[in-house]
Amino acid sequence: MNNIELERGSLLINLKCPECGAEYDAAVSNTVCLNDACKSTLFAHYDLTQYLDKAILKDRPANMWRYHELLPVIHPENIVTLGEGFTPIIPLENLKQAAIGNEVFWKDESGNPTGSFKARGISAAVSKAKEIGIKAIATPTAGNAGGALAAYAARASIKAIVYMPKLTPKVFKDECRLYGAELVEIDGNISDCGKLINEHAIANNWFQISTLKEPYRLEGKKTLGFEIAEQFNWQLPDVILYPTGGGTGLIGIWKAFDELEQLGWIDSKRPRMVAVQSESCNGIVTAFNGGHHISEFADGGFTIANGLRVPKPYADKIILKVLRDSKGAALTISDNEMSDAIKEIARNEGMLIAPEGAALWQAYKKLKASQWIQPGEQVLMINTGSGYKYLENIDI
Ligand SMILES: *Cc1c(COP(=O)(O)O)cnc(C)c1O
Ligand SMILES: [Zn+2]
Repeated sequence: MNNIELERGSLLINLKCPECGAEYDAAVSNTVCLNDACKSTLFAHYDLTQYLDKAILKDRPANMWRYHELLPVIHPENIVTLGEGFTPIIPLENLKQAAIGNEVFWKDESGNPTGSFKARGISAAVSKAKEIGIKAIATPTAGNAGGALAAYAARASIKAIVYMPKLTPKVFKDECRLYGAELVEIDGNISDCGKLINEHAIANNWFQISTLKEPYRLEGKKTLGFEIAEQFNWQLPDVILYPTGGGTGLIGIWKAFDELEQLGWIDSKRPRMVAVQSESCNGIVTAFNGGHHISEFADGGFTIANGLRVPKPYADKIILKVLRDSKGAALTISDNEMSDAIKEIARNEGMLIAPEGAALWQAYKKLKASQWIQPGEQVLMINTGSGYKYLENIDI
């Protein structure tokens, strides 16, 4: 057992552009593909021809670094961890009546450090930044990424700079300040934060980890896919519902399944992936349903689901490709519906979940009613965060 563990380090080879195929050295800092024609998100590329036995997982710790061969950190002492990942799969209990014919589960990410699945991506990105020798990291955020960056940067003794919309609930700002990050409040949405931080980062030599413009947050979020496979005993569910902001989790889960198939740990059967957006930012839904390959900027203003207020995801092309390749779907949910679902789930299931996660329950009910989800299918909803940070947004 231990022999196998000690002998294998990360199988990372380099970074690759999924669009033009250009390759980049992973030992230095990278952002997106330098080819102006694509400027695509870069994907970490591993040597998956190596024989790796699932048995290595048996005695590993219950966090996302149990898959360290398939993560980008070369020297384990650079791993910055607060115990993120290996979150529970929780079946519906009292709401089973509304889901007759299906087995429906949550993957509940609310127990992660700082209360959301952002911890996964940020743990990976901060670890790799530490390995490369980066001293200051900046990010625009709709809320949860800022808190996670602030916490992991504190742990790594790296400076964190966070740009957040003024309209974000206070708790998201307070946690950043408590973790010692420099917080800048912006009059606008996450796109406005992104534009400003970009200018300031260049002037100040901050490394930016904006969603999918940096390669390693995706690697952390990818571990969701590894865990889903492992927790479902290497037989994937039929449908996965995902609340889509920038799309990191959706793309990451898909990448994970591909890597597991190359290792021979799962077969070629894939879930149908469903992107759920807020009515306020529906660019992916419009593009998917219209048969387009990129999305248009769409910002209808405030939504209680901060994480879904992303007017134009940087990796929209890749999100849309995953939805198509998986024979998936895309739909929007209103703030009122999210609010209702939060209350319904809290009263019936004893779970106080984020509005982003609550949107999935409404999406499930719609897809079941329209028979897009069929009797006998297994359905997994990713509850991406805790509802406790959003109480200010909910009319109780
Ligand atoms: C960030 C966030 C999302 C969206 O995640 P992406 O990877 O940007 O698609 C969903 N839910 C919560 C709670 C979030 O914090
Ligand atoms: Zn490229």
